[in-house]
Amino acid sequence: VPTIGVLALQGDVREHARALEQAGARTLNVRRAEELDRIDGLVLPGGESTTMWRLARAFELLEPLRKRVEAGLPAYGSCAGMIMLADRIRDGVAGQETVGGIDMTVRRNAFGRQVDSFESDVPLTGMGDTPYHAVFIRAPWVESVGDAVEVLGRAESGPNAGRIVAVRQGRLMATSFHPELTGDFRVHHYFADLVRRAMRKED
Ligand code: GLN
Repeated sequence: VPTIGVLALQGDVREHARALEQAGARTLNVRRAEELDRIDGLVLPGGESTTMWRLARAFELLEPLRKRVEAGLPAYGSCAGMIMLADRIRDGVAGQETVGGIDMTVRRNAFGRQVDSFESDVPLTGMGDTPYHAVFIRAPWVESVGDAVEVLGRAESGPNAGRIVAVRQGRLMATSFHPELTGDFRVHHYFADLVRRAMRKED
């Protein structure tokens, strides 16, 4: 059984832990660098990326996170967590840093200017035949990706149709939306499977 950490600096930590347990994982709330050595994968939850970044700095977690992700720790970022896993961000606050790892440019609060929060059905590659009912809350979108990044989902309707909202690059994945809130845990199952394969060194 994989142990999947949830970065517990800020954001909807408990909902992710519950979803991961549904997906067959053990969970650990991560606040200190030592705890990164006890996990097989990590979820970076939604919340507020500027606060998460500041707290990661204050807790001396930013460098350890970068190192572990670089060394192959599987990680999944949702919303603010997506921002944290982006190599490049737009509309961040002055000096805002990320953990990085995914070769993409993410625009903060991108959907938020038109509408703060909305729901939309998004077909997701590798996660079943029915579209995923996705909840977006002041969500970022992915503005561009490098060659190594696989696009798993795009917004389907409305003025922002075609915008990338789910990606994967090797052992790293990210979504603009919040799959921990709906009771449909396909995204968490997908990530837990990715972690299990990484533990068996199958990828
Ligand atoms: N707007 C937030 C940020 O910039 C993300 C919102 C969310 O995680 N629901 O971090």
